[in-house]
Amino acid sequence: MLIVGWFTGQAGIFRAGDDLERRIRFPVPAYVVETATERILIDTGLNPAAVDDPAAYYERPDVFAASTLEQERSVAEQLDVGTLTKVVLTHLHWDHAGGLGLIPASVPVVVQRSEWRAGHDDAAVRRNFFLTRDYAEDSREVILVDGDHDLLGDGSIELLLTPGHTPGHQSIRIGELVLGADVTHFASGLDDHRFPVFADDHEQQRRSANRLRAMRDAGFSVIPGHDPGILRPGPLDAAAPSTRTARRRSSVNQ
Ligand SMILES: [Zn+2]
Repeated sequence: MLIVGWFTGQAGIFRAGDDLERRIRFPVPAYVVETATERILIDTGLNPAAVDDPAAYYERPDVFAASTLEQERSVAEQLDVGTLTKVVLTHLHWDHAGGLGLIPASVPVVVQRSEWRAGHDDAAVRRNFFLTRDYAEDSREVILVDGDHDLLGDGSIELLLTPGHTPGHQSIRIGELVLGADVTHFASGLDDHRFPVFADDHEQQRRSANRLRAMRDAGFSVIPGHDPGILRPGPLDAAAPSTRTARRRSSVNQ
């Protein structure tokens, strides 16, 4: 997990029921998955050109009236982006697709077909606060997938269609680890369903949260989208839960 930036906004916008006056600072993560033959970037963080004055850059003062952005180190500063083999976008929001332009154009991007369509449909763009400047002019190959998808054909990395936050939002399962992305901003959202007040479809989002909750209850580690209390940069454990439990037990015994 890389932390590539931060955004600060009204707590009550990003978790229903929280105080609208209180401000909360959220980490913006990206992930690198390495196999013997692949180096895959999952999400790209903020657009560095937008960070100082996002309202002006995107010409959307409404979206950024109560939010500020901070760049940590971009994906290009934390990685040799020339060695990437694929980019997977969980969805097209500006804190996930904003860094796409930092990745060489020879690297294809993988996204759900329903998300890509929505990102090019005027009504869906307005409804979902998509900022098309991050991806509309991008010339790289776009690999569109429909629903759950075995990314490498060997069962190791599975894209899970988890719509609701946006029309074609996807989560990623790597071994026993699940990057939930913005199905819930906070880990607690899997149980309390206190989502951001904006969404493409809150009912679908509830179903997606229930799907990830069932995976968590079955032993998968589900990483939430922006939980400041949970996201920490560094290696993540994709081992089987039985291995994790055994390891925990042995450390308790020591
Ligand atoms: Zn997000």
